[in-house]
Amino acid sequence: MSTNDPQQQQMIREAMKAIAERRPGKTKLVYDKNKRTIVAVAENSNTVSALNITAEDADMFGVLTLTSRWLEDRWSALKEKGTLSIPLSAWDGGDAFTLHDIGVQGAATAVEGEIFIGESRQSDSQHSVRLFLAAVDPSTPPAPARFVAPDGTVYKASSQFSKDGVTSELDVEFVDIQPALDKRRIGILETSVLADTKVVLAGVGTGGAYAAVELAKCGVGHFALIDPDRLSVGNVVRHPGGISQVGRLKVNVVRDLILEKNPDARVDVYPIPVSHENLGVVRDVVRGANVVICGTDNRPSKLLLNRLCVEENVTAVYGGAFRRAYGGQVLRVRPKETLCYQCFVAAMPEESADAEISSEEEAAAVAYSDRPVAVEPGLSLDVQPIANLLTKLAVLELLKGRSTSLSLLNRDFDAPWYLWLNRPEPGTQYASWPPLSESRDEMTINRWYGVYIERDAECPVCGHFIAGTAAALGIDLASLGELPSEPPKN
Ligand SMILES: [Zn+2]
Repeated sequence: MSTNDPQQQQMIREAMKAIAERRPGKTKLVYDKNKRTIVAVAENSNTVSALNITAEDADMFGVLTLTSRWLEDRWSALKEKGTLSIPLSAWDGGDAFTLHDIGVQGAATAVEGEIFIGESRQSDSQHSVRLFLAAVDPSTPPAPARFVAPDGTVYKASSQFSKDGVTSELDVEFVDIQPALDKRRIGILETSVLADTKVVLAGVGTGGAYAAVELAKCGVGHFALIDPDRLSVGNVVRHPGGISQVGRLKVNVVRDLILEKNPDARVDVYPIPVSHENLGVVRDVVRGANVVICGTDNRPSKLLLNRLCVEENVTAVYGGAFRRAYGGQVLRVRPKETLCYQCFVAAMPEESADAEISSEEEAAAVAYSDRPVAVEPGLSLDVQPIANLLTKLAVLELLKGRSTSLSLLNRDFDAPWYLWLNRPEPGTQYASWPPLSESRDEMTINRWYGVYIERDAECPVCGHFIAGTAAALGIDLASLGELPSEPPKN
């Protein structure tokens, strides 16, 4: 109630109370659509006492949302017949109606509405939702319910919803989705700077799915998702997908989440593992990508993807949580410029092995016959910081060579490997870290640490493995002549 007049406030209270108590007569509230005002009308009285109700007060009325583009596309058909049916999703018992295909996830309840051109609202339409377009002066200022037809005529829309014999008004809003989304990113990211970029996500579990949704919000235009798994009930406490998506392939769940944030994105899905059998397919997907995000949960797939990305000269970022997500790490590989994942495994075998175990399959993969390994997934809350840096490094890679506010971060994030601790986990080398509040110069939890690690000159993927091995063994390669390109045939 936004009116400051105590007398008007009292009138509304009394009328509301009478309605709530279903007392007939006395006073009733009537909403005047044109004035966007609620009026209280006393029994046997023709005097209408207008109350100053603002748009916020009118939020008690339902909303009908559709896109200008949808109506523009069907304008000639509507003009010809004077009427048009409109597929709607009905939400919350009729509190909100949206164009059914405005996003990928429609409501469980679908309703067919009808649109009419003209002032008359005395239609014999059998549809429960009716939308009327009345021509108005072209100088009418822009408003949510204003629609400009392809022929330049300006209309103001109004709508009614009938249920159980009661008809109520609905506010109408025309939205232009992509411009509205772009506008919100101005200043940090120039409107459509990421629309032409392609991101590959290998693994769309919790971290990969989080990254995908965030990148969609940033306006990334092309995604390729690789993951053979289905969403299980156990995933739901961490994955952005919810209970109603259980059983679906994760690539499809995440594709829909992306399209809910960026409806113009192109999303290619590959429900396959990153494995030697799929080498050709994965190489084709990686080739030409601007960045690859690796969130797969096993080392062989990471090593394979690393090899492909180095060979195809595509930057890759690898994210992983430690056991029960007490911390995590992010590795960025710029081929032939920084160390690669293979170098990392050679340089820091413990860090590359201390992976979180979040599924029965992973537990089985590392369990020994005499030592069962428990499934120890961490909290979503503890995975988020890692997924967040993973995503941010990917965005910096996409913005390479462009000047934006985010480019300032290139100075800060210039190391190849990043470490984050959520808690000083007992039994780890981090257990003795000082409390966050007492530390000045020492390392603490809840801070990112960039670590500089050299490339392995003899790395079999990104270095000179043969030359290095030969030198270590004291063999002069030049003296051997040309090496055979194929193994000898017996
Ligand atoms: Zn390497």
